[in-house]
Amino acid sequence: MKCLGNNGNYKFWKYHPEPINGFEKFLMIFVIVLMTFIFIPLAGLGFGIYHITAHYSMYGLIPLMLMIGLCFSAFVTGIGFIVALKNGFCSRCVNFSCGLNTVTKEVVDAYLRKNDVMRKAWEKTGYVLDK
Ligand code: SF4
Repeated sequence: MKCLGNNGNYKFWKYHPEPINGFEKFLMIFVIVLMTFIFIPLAGLGFGIYHITAHYSMYGLIPLMLMIGLCFSAFVTGIGFIVALKNGFCSRCVNFSCGLNTVTKEVVDAYLRKNDVMRKAWEKTGYVLDK
């Protein structure tokens, strides 16, 4: 199993058939997705805005406006990437317990019925297949 949005990069962890728990899901969404694509770029660019504002007499208006525009672009790009990932890949990905996965329960259940290893691991954690 591999992430459709991360094709070809090195995998650091072994495959586990059971679903990830709530804490792991929170870490995955908050730390990996939001930190990487939203918070870290905005923090860096926000510091740039702060630095230019603090030394406004040295830089002037144009660098400040460019830095604000860059910050806004980074935000829009980060959101756009997440939306594109969710719409283009996560809605047809078999990594059902990933925090971004949007596959319907009906499809998940149909998949699990054909995958005994994964179904047993999921049922062990309390997951119930629809009839
Ligand atoms: S659900 Fe999306 S982010 Fe998660 S593994 Fe699948 S493609 Fe990657």
